[in-house]
Amino acid sequence: MTRPHKQEQESAREEVTEVAPNVLRMQLPIRMPGLGHVNCYALLDERGAAVVDPGLPGSATWKTLQQRLARAGLRVRDVHTVIVTHSHPDHFGGATRFAKEAGSRVIAHRSFRFGVSEATHEQPEVSVDDLAAHADREASLGEEPRQRGPVGHTPREPWKIGRTPWGGEPPRPSFKMRMRWRMARWLGGLSFVPRISDPVSGGDVLRLAGRDWFVVHTPGHTEDHFCLHDPDEGLFLAGDHVLPTITPHISGLSLRADPLAAYFESLDRVADIQPVHQVLPAHGHPFDDLADRCRAIQKHHVERLEKVKSIGRELGLASVEAFSQRLFKQRSWGAMAESETFAHLEHLRRLGMAEARRQQDGRLFYSTG
Ligand SMILES: [Zn+2]
Repeated sequence: MTRPHKQEQESAREEVTEVAPNVLRMQLPIRMPGLGHVNCYALLDERGAAVVDPGLPGSATWKTLQQRLARAGLRVRDVHTVIVTHSHPDHFGGATRFAKEAGSRVIAHRSFRFGVSEATHEQPEVSVDDLAAHADREASLGEEPRQRGPVGHTPREPWKIGRTPWGGEPPRPSFKMRMRWRMARWLGGLSFVPRISDPVSGGDVLRLAGRDWFVVHTPGHTEDHFCLHDPDEGLFLAGDHVLPTITPHISGLSLRADPLAAYFESLDRVADIQPVHQVLPAHGHPFDDLADRCRAIQKHHVERLEKVKSIGRELGLASVEAFSQRLFKQRSWGAMAESETFAHLEHLRRLGMAEARRQQDGRLFYSTG
């Protein structure tokens, strides 16, 4: 049996397409689990262009970006604005470079955070390497894992404490990716996490590509995720909130106690937005049935919650790892699967449909009655 075709896995194509008047789609290569490209959109106006989600950090993406811009008759210095839909490296990568070379302003949601999530308004000048080094140091000091408070209260610095809230190993980028970032940082002497010059909030209006776009805050995939809606022409820049053929990862490592509940609410809010004639996602091809796609993704998670409950009936009291290995196929096992499983278990627990118990070794065990 062949697996159904997933648009998000397709490798990046070279062509630049005008998906709406003054809105160009440029595909940049990425290689992440389930993803072969990220869509960077250029929004053209009389001053040049704004780009949305300029790919991964590093010189390979930067070179490709310049080629795509050239195809569209644009130069780096024409990019007056960079919009980052959320705090994942495949979306904010080129932002720092545009700010440096073109003086572009960088727009992201007010709650934009990457890595260490201190409850401050300063941008974290911290790379994943720093976080890993810190975790190693704490481990070598033999420090006891910090008391993490009641179940469901997720720690703010999951990498720093070296363990996840459920007691497993935290997710880390691949070795290759970490090396690449380290090199980029070393060569450029820059942090690859952009400074946000223009933070925005839900309800703000941005003038881009000769249109007014409303900022729609959509926490779930990340706390700081936002979409843009142009009500005049019914365009919707969706980021990773709603993707055409896969469901975005919902991480249990969140500032929210229940990120899945936040995601459900954000899907509800977006499903009600009208008019929407064209959805421009960050991965995969543009599509038009936004409300249907929101409902389908909600249904997927409701089915996953049912499956978690039935796994619990079979296993009895079991670790997050054990739940995740029943919920996910073996090729997906690991920290990301555990993180998503944890988000589902915590959602059930908060609804009174699961119970959690912390074992002596710090691992969380759940039962779903
Ligand atoms: Zn993405």
